[in-house]
Amino acid sequence: MAMTQTMKAALLYGKDDVRLEEVARPQPGPKEVVVEVKVALTCGTDLKAFHRGQHTMLGPFPSPFGHEFGGIVVAVGNEVEGFRPGMRVVAANSAPCNSCFYCRVGQPSLCDHLVFLNGAYAEYIKVPDPIVRQNLLAIPSHLSFRQAAICEPLACAVHGVEESHVKLGDTVAIIGAGPIGLMLVRLAKLKGARVIVIGRNEFKLDNAKHMGADEVISVYRNARPEETIREMTEGRGVDIAIEAVGLPEIWERTIDITRKGGTVNFFGGCEKGTSIRVDTEKLHYQERTIVGVFHHSPRYIATALDLIARDPSRFDGLLTHELPLAHLKEAFRIIDRRDALKIAIVP
Ligand SMILES: [Zn+2]
Ligand SMILES: [Zn+2]
Repeated sequence: MAMTQTMKAALLYGKDDVRLEEVARPQPGPKEVVVEVKVALTCGTDLKAFHRGQHTMLGPFPSPFGHEFGGIVVAVGNEVEGFRPGMRVVAANSAPCNSCFYCRVGQPSLCDHLVFLNGAYAEYIKVPDPIVRQNLLAIPSHLSFRQAAICEPLACAVHGVEESHVKLGDTVAIIGAGPIGLMLVRLAKLKGARVIVIGRNEFKLDNAKHMGADEVISVYRNARPEETIREMTEGRGVDIAIEAVGLPEIWERTIDITRKGGTVNFFGGCEKGTSIRVDTEKLHYQERTIVGVFHHSPRYIATALDLIARDPSRFDGLLTHELPLAHLKEAFRIIDRRDALKIAIVP
């Protein structure tokens, strides 16, 4: 009998408890692909799961962990088409079923049977069938693994900007200058908008300028960003505001910086069970539109990889640190201290 090969993998056991363990190396089923992880990126979602000890995208504990990665195909099942060992690939962290009500009406990000993939903080990861067929992509040769791995969060941001219906010449405010906020800045610029970023951390606001922000407002120095926004927009407020923080109190304030007839996009997910208060006049008599946007779809994953391939170095600033897999906990601590964006974890 052949000896079972093992690998190192980080498992999340609960709140603030992640452990590096020696586990069985995955073998592909007939329709699956096994990828050697070359880099995995930290994500705000991972950080939330780590600190809260729960997340809807994770399975029961101990759970494989990490979902943004790039790597090399090392094994493919005998029914897999289009992939072979040696190929450089990037995968999304989910795929829709294509047969439920939401998939059929063209809202696959709301699919009732999304198959999620976690376990990128490991030496190898097994990509399940629905993701292999829809959301496993070859990395263009001029992109590094870490550039390509930005594809999944960028796809969420693409979804967010598309659902905001940004038009040429619009003024768009992005609230929050974390990695997702910075991606939204870049995409809103590509849409032809004037972009104002509201954030707290100077380092991140500098990064926002590199991503194309026209103006930045530091709430650390400016206690009344709402007033500053009105001054910048002839007293009206912005056409579109996208919240990328995920706090109910910030959601409420985001409504106040939009103009009559404007659009508010609640992009940052808040903790379960929270709620906000909305002045009905601002919705009805002032005709604001409020949208919530979550996750991505295969179309946006492909779009995101294309956008990275056209301007790869633009996104390099999002990766501020690199650490070995054994130091994953340290990576989360670095991000908590706010002097970091995303961290490349190398197995
Ligand atoms: Zn992510
Ligand atoms: Zn579905």
